[in-house]
Amino acid sequence: MSAGAADLAARLAELKRAKHATVLAHVYTVPEVQDAADFVGDSLGLSREAAGLDPSIRIIVFCGVHFMAETAAMLSPGRTVLLPDATAGCPMADMVSDEDVRAMRREHPGAAVACYVNSTAAVKAESDVCVTSSNAVRVISRLAEREVIFVPDRSLGLWVQKQVPDKRLILWDGFCPIHHAMLRAQVEAARRAHPGALVLAHPENTEELLGLADYIGSTEQIVRHARESKATEFIIATENGILHRLRAQNPGKAFHAVSEGAVCPDMKKSTLESVVACLEGELNPVTVDPAVAGRALRAINRMLELS
Ligand code: SF4
Repeated sequence: MSAGAADLAARLAELKRAKHATVLAHVYTVPEVQDAADFVGDSLGLSREAAGLDPSIRIIVFCGVHFMAETAAMLSPGRTVLLPDATAGCPMADMVSDEDVRAMRREHPGAAVACYVNSTAAVKAESDVCVTSSNAVRVISRLAEREVIFVPDRSLGLWVQKQVPDKRLILWDGFCPIHHAMLRAQVEAARRAHPGALVLAHPENTEELLGLADYIGSTEQIVRHARESKATEFIIATENGILHRLRAQNPGKAFHAVSEGAVCPDMKKSTLESVVACLEGELNPVTVDPAVAGRALRAINRMLELS
């Protein structure tokens, strides 16, 4: 750690103590933010952490993107949730609106609506249940309805559909631009460069890319699989922020990115500087209209019950 980073980390520790704050970070954030965080995880892990925080915690600095901070705010009523950079959004979450979901419901009366956690609070409020990539198969398979509208990620929906053949998923056409930019040719080139390495992919990848994978799972499942696998070399087909955690936890194993360009610019907007400045000035609080939050929480809590 550089002297500047060490000073910022020390300042952050001091602010956290003084303000009774905690720092939650997604595994796609930059390494120095992950290292400074009190908890690092995927969407499901972060939701659970936000819901179960010690009562003494007054402020959550959420290092991730806007929909995640919204979820934390809804699961932690009474706490202030701060986003280090107010412009950190998720292009996939913005691909579907609450009005789009209402229109889908009108078109398919009787279908349940499941939304990926990568969606706005307004979309969650229109949904019957929320899912993450860790629990989507389990949650959707446990729904009573046979027809399930799934928004916004078509790739995750296609992957779930294959595992729950008794359901009929009606898919929205959203996608993650970062995961969709990874190409078959890049996986093949990585396999040639690292023969014997296992390809670990994320359900947000394209169907074609998932067809090349040795293992498919959420970021948390990828982390677990890499730790428990007897293999020692892996090609990783998700956002490259995860490599920091994989390498730190598995010093005897090698991890290669499918693409050096697999970087989500929004996830990189939380920096150590912006985390410190945000907590110091209590900047960029994220709030959700209570009427929307009440309905969105029903979908989130149903997920937590079913997963
Ligand atoms: S990696 Fe994709 S899904 Fe995740 S925040 Fe970035 S754009 Fe959204």
